[in-house]
Amino acid sequence: MKTSRISGFYNLSIEERMKIVREFSQLEEKDIEELKKPLDMDIANRMIENVVYLMDVPVGIATNFLINGKDYLIPMAIEEPSVVAAASNAAKVARAKGGFRAISTEPLMIGQIQVVNIKDPYSAKFKILENKQELIRIANEQDPVLVSLGGGCKDIEVRILDTKLGPMVIVHIIVDVRDAMGANAVNTMAESLAPYIEDITGGKVYLRILSNLAVYRLARAWAVFPRSEIGDAVEGIYHAYEFARVDPFRATTHNKGIMNGIDAVLIATANDWRAVEAGAHAYAALNGYTSLTHYEINNEGDLVGYIELPVAVGTVGGASSTHPKAKIARKILNVSSAREFSEILASVGLAQNFAALRALATEGIQRGHMSLHARNIAIMAGATGDLIDKVAEIMVSEKKVRVDRAREILEKLKNENR
Ligand code: NAD
Repeated sequence: MKTSRISGFYNLSIEERMKIVREFSQLEEKDIEELKKPLDMDIANRMIENVVYLMDVPVGIATNFLINGKDYLIPMAIEEPSVVAAASNAAKVARAKGGFRAISTEPLMIGQIQVVNIKDPYSAKFKILENKQELIRIANEQDPVLVSLGGGCKDIEVRILDTKLGPMVIVHIIVDVRDAMGANAVNTMAESLAPYIEDITGGKVYLRILSNLAVYRLARAWAVFPRSEIGDAVEGIYHAYEFARVDPFRATTHNKGIMNGIDAVLIATANDWRAVEAGAHAYAALNGYTSLTHYEINNEGDLVGYIELPVAVGTVGGASSTHPKAKIARKILNVSSAREFSEILASVGLAQNFAALRALATEGIQRGHMSLHARNIAIMAGATGDLIDKVAEIMVSEKKVRVDRAREILEKLKNENR
């Protein structure tokens, strides 16, 4: 049975790591070739406007993840050191008690239609709801593919907002987007309904766009981090969580740590990470900004972690279907639906949060950060090849990770080699 529990992955060469990923995820030779190449400029030029060049971001593989009994290797694209190592480490701790368990709701997105110039908003609301089935029918005409897959517009809700410009009637279309992120699908449906809604209400429609606050599309993950693995860090993490729960200044950084992991996987799979970011933070703010994770200590004295957030991601559609490396990242993940993918993302978010809190509540975050950061500083100071690690090691041992010191060490090492 293949396992993602791989010890010493970080000590291997890039080629050796690639070999393991290749075997684990049954990648083909053409996939490996694709991963080694930069993105085709013609594809890039079709993805966005005014393309001039490409930006490279390293992709690391997080190991050790066991989610709902299935092993995963998780590609993470990120420029920040420590994130991939921290995720792998947290996943290792969670594995001792069976790894992560995760669940998700149906993939229901909300599209908003803004109706103004209405004097009698409750009459408008009534007329819209009275015509619900017809509105759903019109919306579903726009996307027969989605409907054939069991998705499509499922419900209509109406809200009345009291604004400076008078009452606004806001129609929400609730759309099951199956394995898509769903923005295009929902926006198309929302636009198609506008004339009909103007007709039945006598109002004027302005905006027709999805909401990134996807409260009906939630992913939840849960894991036990045993005291036998982390000792007194249980109490430290519990205190760190309580701080984030009651203080928005701390909660912002706490949630940023969660998104370090989630965004990295979203970028590796060319998903819209801004959409998930916006949804996550808005969800955290629904009743006053707070932590997206929750921790408890169980009867055995182990730490139990829980996360709940909206995760609007796709395994079809958008750039995730056009970017060749995104397709291979999905192959590495071996994920078959958007729901499964959202459950992986919630688990990664919980793992990342646990790892950050553990570091913060014990030795502090800088020690782990510094050894990786030291390499960047060494490169900034002009070190190349073997000298990067040598300069970094000396700076870390001296606890002086600064460019000026890196330059001095580099100079000295170069002179010794002359
Ligand atoms: P899409 O339109 O490319 O693909 C979705 C379509 O694929 C569906 O409408 C359906 O017809 C078809 N499909 C085939 N197989 C499917 C399956 N198994 N499940 C679901 N659909 C299937 O993509 P999208 O997901 O509708 O839109 C995503 C894009 O929209 C992203 O690139 C995002 O950046 C962008 N976007 C985001 C926002 C926002 O977040 N506010 C706004 C506008 C656009």
